Amino acid sequence: MNIILLGYPGSGKGTLAKDLSKTLDMVHVSTGDILRDEMAKKTPLGTEATSYMAGGRLVPDRLVMDMLKARLGTESRGLLFDGFPRTVAQAEALDAWFASRGQEIDAVVFLNVAESVVMARLGSRRTCTGCGKIYNVVSNPPAKEGVCDVCGKPLATREDDKVEVITRRIQVYKDQTEPLLAYYRASANFLEADGGKTPDAVTRDVLGLLRVKP
Ligand code: ADP
Ligand code: ZN
Repeated sequence: MNIILLGYPGSGKGTLAKDLSKTLDMVHVSTGDILRDEMAKKTPLGTEATSYMAGGRLVPDRLVMDMLKARLGTESRGLLFDGFPRTVAQAEALDAWFASRGQEIDAVVFLNVAESVVMARLGSRRTCTGCGKIYNVVSNPPAKEGVCDVCGKPLATREDDKVEVITRRIQVYKDQTEPLLAYYRASANFLEADGGKTPDAVTRDVLGLLRVKP
């Protein structure tokens, strides 16, 4: 099974993807996480991506596609895409790539959340610098302030979760990613979930939509 998660930055794709990929034994493909990993390792790709990401702009399609093909070329498990595709050009490139491998997209899950909600969530999001677990200082704080419950490492605000950058990411989503809703409504098994619920409820709803028993 191959699944695409769509929705605003802050709609809960990453949290849902971590849950679903465990339950369904799929590969969680977060292009944002992969790009941050390339940046941390200071690879040429990471270096090129840095200025786009810090400013809340999209990394060029070509870089993203090359990166994914290099990482996933030999993967045989199902793919759960989180944060990809983000442009119609990426969706078309994915279709072509899957066609060449005899694979298909089994479902596209749109996490529907109001813009005002994602703005608030992104501003209060904290990410573990050790294991990547996502917290929210308002709705889902760690037991001990600023420290990860799982691995004990410090939490940080992502560079692009700073207020100035959040506004640009929302606009980039509207301009470049939202057209994918129409693209996939027309071409794929398009499912929609209410992303305003708690993480557990969202996971349960999506498993129900996918007709998988939790
Ligand atoms: P969010 O969905 O919360 O914005 P991500 O971690 O998915 O967070 O993405 C962070 C940044 O990484 C984006 O703002 C963009 O610069 C870059 N990025 C991630 N995925 C893609 C992609 N598929 N195409 C282009 N840029 C991407
Ligand atoms: Zn951690």
